Amino acid sequence: MLKTKDILDEKDKRLHTISKEVTFPLDEKDIETMNLMVEYLTNSQIEDLAEKYDLRPGMGMAAIQLGIPKRYITIVHEYDDQKFDTYIVCNPKIISNSEEMIYVELGEGCLSINRDVEGIVPRYARVTVEGYDINGKKIRIRAREELAIAFQHEIDHLNGILFTDKIDPKNPYKDQDKYRPI
Ligand code: ZN
Repeated sequence: MLKTKDILDEKDKRLHTISKEVTFPLDEKDIETMNLMVEYLTNSQIEDLAEKYDLRPGMGMAAIQLGIPKRYITIVHEYDDQKFDTYIVCNPKIISNSEEMIYVELGEGCLSINRDVEGIVPRYARVTVEGYDINGKKIRIRAREELAIAFQHEIDHLNGILFTDKIDPKNPYKDQDKYRPI
């Protein structure tokens, strides 16, 4: 089982690595890691389990957050009260996006960033993501609202970008009125 301390902190330079595409069939070790990531994210969003195992709540994780520079991400989205959709996507790419931009009103969060961050991160309200499932089969996901933000956030990790890198420290709420808060 993954522990919160297994997740790299923002001070770790490895988070700025550009991860490499995976090839199929995947290594057994990567499949195991994907399942551990999903388990962590799911448990972390179930209050009593999060408390029991001392997990920080999160809905997404990229392999590089465990120090693995490979292009795969996992997202566990609570689409209804304690009901979750799970996504494991290898070599994910945004192939189209809405014009409309949104941001998380309370501020974006990240399992690698253990502090409050001032500012907003503009994100596309809707994206279509293409990638591969665990078996190497091509998949396409349409995501909107917070799920769309999660995909953009996790794909940024694969390019070595943290959400804090996208906030201008001199003007953290720049152009806020141009985007819709969620
Ligand atoms: Zn993150």
